[in-house]
Amino acid sequence: MLTVRSPWSGELVASISTASAADVSRAVSAAEDAFLDWRETPKSRRVAILTAFAALLDEHARELAVLQVRENGKALNVRSAEGYGEHLRYYAHLLQMPSGYVVDPPTGSARVHTERVPVGVVACLTPWNSPINLLLWKLGPAIAVGNTVVVKPSEITPLSTLRLAELATESGLPPGVLNVVSGDGAVGRALIEHPSVRRIAFTGSSATGERVAEAAARGLRPVSLELGGKSANVVFADADLDQAIRGASVGAFGAGGQACMAGSRVLVENSAYDKVLQGLVAAADAIRLGNPLEPSTDMGPVATAAQLEKIETMVDRAVADGAVVAAGGVRERVAGLPDGLFYRPTVLTNVTADSQIFQEEVFGPVTCVIPFADEDEAVRLANSTRYGLAAGVWTTDRGRSDRVASRLIAGTVWVNTYRKLAYNVPFGGMGMSGLGRENGPGCLDEFSEQKAVWVDLAPDVRDAPRPR
Ligand code: NAD
Repeated sequence: MLTVRSPWSGELVASISTASAADVSRAVSAAEDAFLDWRETPKSRRVAILTAFAALLDEHARELAVLQVRENGKALNVRSAEGYGEHLRYYAHLLQMPSGYVVDPPTGSARVHTERVPVGVVACLTPWNSPINLLLWKLGPAIAVGNTVVVKPSEITPLSTLRLAELATESGLPPGVLNVVSGDGAVGRALIEHPSVRRIAFTGSSATGERVAEAAARGLRPVSLELGGKSANVVFADADLDQAIRGASVGAFGAGGQACMAGSRVLVENSAYDKVLQGLVAAADAIRLGNPLEPSTDMGPVATAAQLEKIETMVDRAVADGAVVAAGGVRERVAGLPDGLFYRPTVLTNVTADSQIFQEEVFGPVTCVIPFADEDEAVRLANSTRYGLAAGVWTTDRGRSDRVASRLIAGTVWVNTYRKLAYNVPFGGMGMSGLGRENGPGCLDEFSEQKAVWVDLAPDVRDAPRPR
């Protein structure tokens, strides 16, 4: 049995049953059976269903967003909720674009066309921090091209996914095209190890990502991995420093730092260091913690007691390694919410590049501020972790922003902004931040195979040309 508890009040939100191994097999079989019809369903019908599903998601955006807040405690952000439908409409639009090409091969009188074909049953595994968006990025392109899906949401946030699946059914998605199995990592493992799963789309931690990649290797299943990060926000002295401070604060503390792209290292050119540090500390101290459903709340609680303990342990270790706490570094007791899992936004200084806090993801409202002397040192420091998800560059020098953006090892670089995402822009990581890209014009290809069909144009049947 899974229990979902409110991270700010401790109240029981729901108890739901965990899928057994037999349930996982049943879900995969249902997806396999549904694939036979769904892959043959005309594109126009698939477009119509995706469009209807998008409309229902828009209609229920607030309900879904509130449900997600009740599961993971991230402050309500209706703006991002309003984007749910946009994603599906974009995948429907891509589905109507040409999906292959014609080529005349050099061997002579034949013509070849390419086709995009679905792969079969796709397993989608999602984390707890943005369960709906991160599912739509997988589910949308997967079903658009004719695959069927089995989803295993995080054990911390199963409810929003189950509600989304109900809306999918209401929109006309045939039975078996979308299936959900609830449970913890063991259920996820049973799903990805099922031999009938032909593609795996995973978002979660880098440690689990490595295990998922190992399972995917058995049976040679393609896999996409959206993993953790230790992203750097690089502030040059010529930047608009007030904007840079705001960006660094949003990068580090937006969504309570429980975001893969959190700017958890702020690198600042020496001559601007004091001003940026002071500004960031003031911004951290001003953040109001509280009930994440209240509009006056800037930051909600940490999602789970285990995550709160991890944050505390990593900050304690940083201090033992010589870091100095410039802001936060403590739990907070919010009036009226004695059982809330609140942690103050934290800024650390005196952090060395080889320390754990510089190198490893915290996944909480904790950032460190580190000075640098010049562009080369900034790039070297920014690139000196095993991750490569995202980075920010703050400068008014256009040549420098392009130079530094090119040199940073990151799947996304923001210049004079941070935390921006869009359905038509590819997102994904390098190094231990992952494999593959979600969203953007290539996202349907990520969930399909390319087939080449040779048609001989000669009037009589001939042998294939011999290789020379
Ligand atoms: P996690 O790795 O613990 O779990 C992710 C999912 O995998 C969950 O559904 C979990 O039940 C399942 N799982 C766990 N062990 C498994 C196994 N052996 N086999 C199959 N499935 C298994 O991650 P989390 O704590 O839920 O999420 C936080 C992490 O996700 C952070 O590292 C964060 O950076 C990352 N994340 C990355 C992105 C991105 O787009 N790059 C986005 C959001 C979150």
